Amino acid sequence: MEQEKLAERLTNLNIFVRTRREKAEREAATNSGLLTGNTIAVKDNIAIKDEPLTCASRILTGYTSPFTATAVERIIAAGGAIIGQTNQDEFAMGSSSENSIYGPVRNPHDPDRVTGGSSGGSAAAVAAGLADMSIGSDTGGSVRQPAAFCGVYGLKPTYGRVSRYGLVAFASSFDQIGPLAKSVDDLTRLFVTIAGHDDKDSTSADKPVPTVEECLQGPLPKRIGIPRSLLKEGVAKDILVQMEVLEKFCRKSGMDIVEISLPHAPYAIATYYILATAEASSNLARFDGIRYGYRHPDGNISDLYELSRANGFGPEVKRRIMLGTYILSAGYYDAYYTKAQKVRTLIKQDFINVFEDVDLVFLPTAPTTAFKVGSLINNPLEMYLADIFTVPISLAGVPAISIPAGTDRDGLPIGLQIVGDYFREETILSFCRKVEQANLF
Ligand code: GLN
Repeated sequence: MEQEKLAERLTNLNIFVRTRREKAEREAATNSGLLTGNTIAVKDNIAIKDEPLTCASRILTGYTSPFTATAVERIIAAGGAIIGQTNQDEFAMGSSSENSIYGPVRNPHDPDRVTGGSSGGSAAAVAAGLADMSIGSDTGGSVRQPAAFCGVYGLKPTYGRVSRYGLVAFASSFDQIGPLAKSVDDLTRLFVTIAGHDDKDSTSADKPVPTVEECLQGPLPKRIGIPRSLLKEGVAKDILVQMEVLEKFCRKSGMDIVEISLPHAPYAIATYYILATAEASSNLARFDGIRYGYRHPDGNISDLYELSRANGFGPEVKRRIMLGTYILSAGYYDAYYTKAQKVRTLIKQDFINVFEDVDLVFLPTAPTTAFKVGSLINNPLEMYLADIFTVPISLAGVPAISIPAGTDRDGLPIGLQIVGDYFREETILSFCRKVEQANLF
């Protein structure tokens, strides 16, 4: 009976694209460590040897990975059971997990609503109790925003903290694998497991990884910054109310709350969508109908490339490839790409300046709670605005978490974002643990 109910939830919400319980149990039985006894779901853009890897795209149908991602290898070595692969936006492009060949993922709190994206399946798997923890990828908010919409914790580590080896590249200067879980303790055990230098990824940082104890019992922050000018318009009122609850708790605990400014943050969406599409157009050139998965059956050699890409990619991915190709074209490169790189440096500098004065920054994770399935899918610009509070952090490369912070008037989860300085995940996590223990929400 229990099994049946579980199976029903699984199919209805469209969370998993593949499960592998038996293999998972076998693997887990041979190891023990920080994740012994835990089930972990993996987004379908992170490689597991001998398993299909599709990124929810037709162009990868039939493709099986010949190797395992470092993050997954570390989970298995720590005793974790990798029970299945989760649905997502195609190639991690999207904010709703609707851009998928498998169909949209549905929110366990209300199946008419989206889960957020692109790691919607990973967030929903944890929220629905189908996995203890999960990993997703975050390029511009894809771990944090679905975590917020589904009411779970989701961390985007500092850029370089977790190896990207085995993560299918979307925008390589942003991509990070991040953990999702229902408690700070679970999230921390998974984070500590996957973090740390990897010879197979030259962008992974050679810095010591904090222990679980250091992450959970570190010193509390003294000063917290809030960029109030960014919150004046367009943020749902119920979300701002929960921000105040968190602020009040901090003041009562003796922390100073100060106003900060991130003067270049208003340019973040434009900057991100220029740089991320440029990188994507280059990264996705490898899917040509020859080397991976899907190949269109008709036509001569030159048609084969065109037809395979035309039929293999979905509309959002095509939009980004075309945008990115245009941005990188000879006549426009300086006007768009070079300019956006300069703005990225300014946004990064904003964060460096802020963290000279404060230990953490608070922001909402998203301006709204989960929207209705189908409501934004034909309005890409509106959809891009769902990332307004997550992309500045991705451009700077600093770490940030989304924590569950109660619900709005419709009973939908609210997420608040706690941002830390480079490689100071332990400051974020120790603070989150305190908030969790205080039962504020
Ligand atoms: N929603 C953002 C985008 O569509 C972020 C995606 C992500 O982080 N993978 O690009």
